[in-house]
Amino acid sequence: MDAPADARAVERLRALVRIPTIARPTSGPGPRADRSAFEQFIAALPGLYPRVHAALERERLGTDPEGTTGYTLLYRWAGSDPRGARTPTVLMAHYDVVAATDEGWRHPPFAGELVEHEGEQVVWGRGAIDDKGALAAVLEAVERLLEAGVTPRHDVLLLFGHDEEVAGTGARAVVAALRERGIRPALVLDEGGAIVEGVFPGLHEPAALVGVTEKGITTLRLRVEQHGGHAASPPPLTATVRLARALLRLNRRPARSRLDATTRTMIRTLGSRVRGPLGLVFRRVDLVAPLLVPVLRRRGAETAALLRTTRAVTELRAGHAANALPESAEATVNIRIAPGESVARAVDDVRRAIADDAVQLTVLEPSEPAPVSPAHGPAWDDLTAAIDEIVPGLLVSPYVMMQASDARFLTPISDHVYRFTPFRLSAAERACLHAIDERIRVRSYLEGVRVYEALLRRR
Ligand SMILES: [Zn+2]
Repeated sequence: MDAPADARAVERLRALVRIPTIARPTSGPGPRADRSAFEQFIAALPGLYPRVHAALERERLGTDPEGTTGYTLLYRWAGSDPRGARTPTVLMAHYDVVAATDEGWRHPPFAGELVEHEGEQVVWGRGAIDDKGALAAVLEAVERLLEAGVTPRHDVLLLFGHDEEVAGTGARAVVAALRERGIRPALVLDEGGAIVEGVFPGLHEPAALVGVTEKGITTLRLRVEQHGGHAASPPPLTATVRLARALLRLNRRPARSRLDATTRTMIRTLGSRVRGPLGLVFRRVDLVAPLLVPVLRRRGAETAALLRTTRAVTELRAGHAANALPESAEATVNIRIAPGESVARAVDDVRRAIADDAVQLTVLEPSEPAPVSPAHGPAWDDLTAAIDEIVPGLLVSPYVMMQASDARFLTPISDHVYRFTPFRLSAAERACLHAIDERIRVRSYLEGVRVYEALLRRR
């Protein structure tokens, strides 16, 4: 390892963390995103990664609804084989970050401090992992390869979104452009899984979890309407109570649990390194699935979410005065749809569980579970070989990502979409995503740079 180069790499990440590119919804009552920070971020990149900006073309796509300037960045690194222009490798990241104030942080979120933490050097701040960490590591890898005189065989595209955290349109705009150009990426790599420990019963070693699909997502609005009136003479079932009853019924009837094919593969793969009877059970998952499902369901919320479509009641609204009957009551239910299920089925299940026609259902922004990319074939093999080159012997497993990402927008134009950030993340570090004290270990960051580098050398 080249120590001064690594130190510079860390400085560059810190510089990017310091620019407060806070994501804000593009509609609704709240404040809009401060695009001057986004401009500042875009302007900072050429100085930090000069070779990338000398050798690659850069386009700005993905505008705000009311704007004309694009903030999502698409870089093209031309490959040596012109036939590879239509089957590029696409590395994705996003540079918008979840809002943060100094409150509660041990080191401020936008200071990009380099601190000693639990015996290791750590870059502290919002976006250090999600997802400026990945963005900077990708740029660093390309910068190093350019310095080494490497040219990929096929094109390499870098897609850096500006509105991932608010489910915006940036990545979709790029997909539309790529589709128009007849491009079908041979490999797409976006954020998602990581190198993690302690996530699987009986497994006492780290494993790289690569998302080969992601759950679908939709928002469901439940609404009960009623004539208003004086609260002194209420009907037996007010709109509020009727809604509450619906929500309780919903809670009593969770969606069915099952082990989809990807989760079975994950259990088999990770189980291959689990000793004793537990390992035996995991390796025979197909035989024991009916027995395993109830056991896993009881293991906690995260494991249970692996098995089924989940529903979370996130918002409640009703009433306008303490002494008046509510004219309406409304709840928002956030639904995450398991692979093999569908939005229609999930909504149907909700309707049946509630069993009350007076509760109106409105489906907002439905997004089906993503198609499953194969955990074999050249794209997968290149990714796993790159991981193995940098972290020899590391267990690599496909898994179902439970969060939604921009990667889902790429699935219509690519059959090989993977969700994996090559950083080692402890449970504590994972808990900091979208929360206070987000940070990344320098060692983990530099290892990630090398994985991207090793991957691109194979493309
Ligand atoms: Zn992210």
